[in-house]
Amino acid sequence: MAATAALLIPQVEIAESKSTVISRLPASKTRRFAWTIDDGASSAAVKSYLDIAEKGDQHLTFFVTSCYASWRTHSKQISRLLAAGKIQLGNHTTLHRDLTAVSVSEIRKQLYGCHLFMLEEFGYDARPYFRPPYGSTNPTVRSVAAELGYTVPTMWYGSFGDSSNTPEGRVVQLANKWIANGRIVIDHCNRAKSQHALDQIQGFIKAKGLHSVTLTEAFGKNFK
Ligand SMILES: [Zn+2]
Repeated sequence: MAATAALLIPQVEIAESKSTVISRLPASKTRRFAWTIDDGASSAAVKSYLDIAEKGDQHLTFFVTSCYASWRTHSKQISRLLAAGKIQLGNHTTLHRDLTAVSVSEIRKQLYGCHLFMLEEFGYDARPYFRPPYGSTNPTVRSVAAELGYTVPTMWYGSFGDSSNTPEGRVVQLANKWIANGRIVIDHCNRAKSQHALDQIQGFIKAKGLHSVTLTEAFGKNFK
């Protein structure tokens, strides 16, 4: 056992060095931010964000938790928007477990299961972007993810605070507070927001002279 553990340590260090944690976009002459939307517990919420990408001019990045049926329900629209470059998908695991609280084999299973789902459902390879559930990460999580090609743990610079039962007015306030040039912000598609709230948020974006870009649009295709 001791010999095995000793052998594993250098591997962890090597893989860990390949991780690039991000929470902001690279500097740019254009005013932009990345609107990232996580989980997918509500099919209606997923649909309303897909419609924003389809009908509006905001490009969105979804961090998919693959246990939710929403992603299959809207498979056709998702594939169409991926092909049009209006959305991007990142890996947010199969079951949304805290990856710092499970075994190495479970970390791998959680990330690889979601990876395979997106490959099979959409023909889409989400690497290198993943978001550890709850933003909970450590060197072991990052090294296991990096071994699978998920070398970019994607954190955020501001949250809409909607992962719990935050009143919608507060979510809209937080969106207005955090949406700003160069930031990656986090939102969730677990409860349907009213059309009024979504319109208000898009209004803030326009008023600030911003537009949302996908992570690949901001970081480039060869970013790892
Ligand atoms: Zn999540």
